[in-house]
Amino acid sequence: MTLSRSGEDFGRHAPSYYAATAPAGPDAPALEGSERADVCIVGGGFAGLGAALALARAGKAVRLVEAGPLGWGASGRNGGQVHMGWNQDQPWLERKLGLAKARALWDVALAAREHLDGLLALDPDACDFRAGHVHADHRARFVAGSHAHAAHMHEVYGYQDLRAVGREEMRALVDSPDYHGGIIDARGGHLHPLKLAQGIARAAAAAGAALHGGSPCTAIKRSGAGWRVETAGGTVEAGAVLVATGGYATGLLPRIDAHVLPINNFIAVTAPLGAERAVQLIAGGRSVSDSRFVVRYFRMTPDHRLLFGGGESYGWRFPKDIGSFVRPHLERTFPQLAGTPFDYAWGGTLAITPDRLPHCQEVQPGLWSLNGFSGVGVVLGPYLGAAVGEMLAGKAGAAFAALRVLPGPRFPGGPALRWPTMVAALGFLGLRDRF
Ligand SMILES: Cc1cc2nc3c(=O)[nH]c(=O)nc-3n(C[C@H](O)[C@H](O)[C@H](O)COP(=O)(O)OP(=O)(O)OC[C@H]3O[C@@H](n4cnc5c(N)ncnc54)[C@H](O)[C@@H]3O)c2cc1C
Repeated sequence: MTLSRSGEDFGRHAPSYYAATAPAGPDAPALEGSERADVCIVGGGFAGLGAALALARAGKAVRLVEAGPLGWGASGRNGGQVHMGWNQDQPWLERKLGLAKARALWDVALAAREHLDGLLALDPDACDFRAGHVHADHRARFVAGSHAHAAHMHEVYGYQDLRAVGREEMRALVDSPDYHGGIIDARGGHLHPLKLAQGIARAAAAAGAALHGGSPCTAIKRSGAGWRVETAGGTVEAGAVLVATGGYATGLLPRIDAHVLPINNFIAVTAPLGAERAVQLIAGGRSVSDSRFVVRYFRMTPDHRLLFGGGESYGWRFPKDIGSFVRPHLERTFPQLAGTPFDYAWGGTLAITPDRLPHCQEVQPGLWSLNGFSGVGVVLGPYLGAAVGEMLAGKAGAAFAALRVLPGPRFPGGPALRWPTMVAALGFLGLRDRF
């Protein structure tokens, strides 16, 4: 049994609702013997799979090695929420980068959302996609800011899919005493993330990509003009390598460790609540995320369970009883669900960056890293993976150019001290949720 740093078994998916409800994944035999490729990808999450699909479609010989089954990491076990845009809002991007670059990034976000529609079409169930996302403010004083944001997006970007929501309508949308108003985004929504990862993988394999599960990469070494990717069972000699290992990075690229920090987030899923109760709790089948720094996010599954994400931890190990860890967050949001049994509870690790924007870097000539999607990898992960894949196929486009304008700061303290410094800062920001 090979274990991740969080002590999870790479041999099977986390015990999630998704693993229990997805069909068997595509064939992905472990890497054996010596192979060659134009590009070798390390990591089979949204970013790595998105890149593999783009490279295979461009006619390149591509091989991907993944430590677990495909989609084993954050991509196959996240909240499934479809968020429009980046992890910083457009006014933030305007202040930091100027209006022109902010506009280019918004165009990329729109294209990423369209790209997702194309990926949904690859799955017979459209990955259980449901449209509509609610941003819910847990402080009355935040509502005016949310409404101003919706107006800004209408006026500056012509984005008409946001609608401001007052207190009464919010209560009709989400039956929680916790929320005072917010915004609905018609282009947001939710989906089954493991089906999405598997759909991308199937399409990549059909286009000619060689995908290997159960193949943790142990080293990446210079080899002639290219690189050699090593696993316990084999090697891949490749002209270029893309490392897309998310929060599960295992020290393969120490230089990248200064830019990303793994943090853990947790999800619990109730027993089925029945169709009527489901509609009472969240009208219209939308997804919801709130204004907390340690965000609470939730939605109904197709079989009328509440899938609720809440609570974060820092460090490699997960709490022993994840259900009990999530329960207080859920019951403060929905007191009427106190004591409702959970059928599933699991954790996952995501990579955050200091500015919560993804980080793409050529670490050495031909050795690339793409990482740090923070909490918005469902839409941006596959698309920016594809953007890097296209660049490696010699066809860098606007999305890759936009990715390269992102600042990519390092955590204070570098690889060694990023943990204590950031954990103290994150703990402080998390405390602010209470006031
Ligand atoms: C609990 C949770 C909830 C989330 N909710 C949402 C949400 O609702 N909406 C949203 O947009 N985003 C959400 N996210 C974030 C989103 O899941 C991530 O941003 C995204 O999946 C990152 O994709 P990735 O490909 O970069 O990384 P991952 O999906 O983590 O993939 C990295 C892969 O690399 C593999 N790997 C690592 N080291 C090696 C090695 N040495 N050799 C081979 N393989 C290796 C890992 O096994 C892993 O499968 C959530 C994340 C978590 C953890």
